[in-house]
Amino acid sequence: MERFDHVIDGQVRPSADGRTFESVNPHTREPWAEVALGGRAEVEAAVEAASRAFHQGSWPRMTTGERRQILYRLADLMLEHRQELARRDTMDMGKPISRLLNGEVAGAASNFRLAADEADLDHAEVYPKDADHHIYTQYDPAGVVAAVAPWNFALTMGSWKVAAPLAWGNTVVLKPAEQSPGSATLMAELALEAGMPPGVFNVVHGFGPGSAGGFLVEHPEVARITFTGSSEVGAAISKVAADRLVPVTLECGGKGANLVFADADLDVAVPSSVRSIYSNSGQVCLVTSRVYVQRPIFDEFVARFVEQAEALRLGDPMDPATDLGPIVSQEQYDKVCGYLDSIPEDGGKILTGGRAGDGWYVRPTVAIGLPPAARACREEIFGPVVCVAPFDTEDEGVNLANDSDYGLTATLYTQDLRRAHQVAERLRAGTVWVNTWGVRERKAPFGGYKLSGVGREGGHFHRDFFTEPKAIVMRY
Ligand code: NAP
Ligand code: MG
Repeated sequence: MERFDHVIDGQVRPSADGRTFESVNPHTREPWAEVALGGRAEVEAAVEAASRAFHQGSWPRMTTGERRQILYRLADLMLEHRQELARRDTMDMGKPISRLLNGEVAGAASNFRLAADEADLDHAEVYPKDADHHIYTQYDPAGVVAAVAPWNFALTMGSWKVAAPLAWGNTVVLKPAEQSPGSATLMAELALEAGMPPGVFNVVHGFGPGSAGGFLVEHPEVARITFTGSSEVGAAISKVAADRLVPVTLECGGKGANLVFADADLDVAVPSSVRSIYSNSGQVCLVTSRVYVQRPIFDEFVARFVEQAEALRLGDPMDPATDLGPIVSQEQYDKVCGYLDSIPEDGGKILTGGRAGDGWYVRPTVAIGLPPAARACREEIFGPVVCVAPFDTEDEGVNLANDSDYGLTATLYTQDLRRAHQVAERLRAGTVWVNTWGVRERKAPFGGYKLSGVGREGGHFHRDFFTEPKAIVMRY
């Protein structure tokens, strides 16, 4: 068994009471690591350390250029440790290691570089109109930031949650998801090695309510909360934060729609649509789990989609040839299976997919014939399950796509430029992809409409959230 402890005030340490929990490898379904279980004492120690580092330490007072050097060094160290970072996420939550080594680790490292550049290149506004006064804006760091992360992109989301607040001079306490503690621990250790002062970047492990997560978001010293996870937990955190008027950004769940028009290039639309539901075994907030296909091409699209879905390889996530690993946990596997069972109950038909047999594996699943009110069409499944339905007119397609409690992402496939622009404008989602999926510009706003979240992250949206903009008015 391997062991992951908290990183508090520059020290790697267990819980005061010695309590631990286990991280289970979802491929073997055996525990592979013992993890320190944080409670009130560990959250208290971490927030105190972060508060001291903020009020008395050098980090908020460094120039952005000085912070940039340390964040760049951290990014370099992450690349040096890419094998270990990738291995920990794969062992913790079953993501194919090839995905981590061919993109995700590098993306996580570049989150630190990009955030550092954003803060360094940004400049305060000066208002030159007044003859008697010099007036300008200063972006003060906000204070101690609580970051709460999900398991599905432990490294990507863990780095995304902490990079921007750190670059803007805040100090951070990160609570990783209980299913994926490994990579966050190493990231915080590497930050110390990179020269980040003790207490600036802390990691406390544990669960949600009544445990590390709950105590962290309730802590009176916390100035900002940045959360990525389910809409239910986002709402609960938002209530806690409201009592103290603490600003929150919530990046929550999704039920993305994918509109495929009859004039789409199917050589592009089919593989892209397959990728946009089965990546990470469907455990992605950005997936398009509802596909609406214009009637003239419905049969051809479905036939080609099923063929490509069946060609994906399920297996050991440590095998570089694997496309789909297991579902993260027994709980999540049972939830996905519940939706598989709901499909015939709600009048639908499974064309391919279903339970894969042994272990927490689910084959890429395609369902048709479901009414829009079916559970599998409305609720976030977070598994490799897609519902496909036909539509006739452009209006009908847009209305179907927008008929959701969520609004995180949408895609559309067409070769008609007029339609691409007009439909993209009408889709009520935080990101709309046209003839592609998953491409992220990290300066662009990232977030969702409706139950998909509150606020936006990325680029200057980060600055506006993680700082207190101050107007300074000076008489000549
Ligand atoms: P989750 O169950 O909501 O948990 C997210 C994090 O919140 C975990 O660290 C969790 O701890 C913690 N937590 C739970 N209850 C809490 C509370 N009352 N106070 C403070 N912290 C609490 O989500 P998940 O299962 O890890 O991740 C899947 C969800 O994340 C999906 O809905 C997905 O769509 C969403 N997601 C959204 C985005 C986005 O950018 N919009 C990206 C990725 C994932 P425990 O692990 O101990 O429960
Ligand atoms: Mg959870």
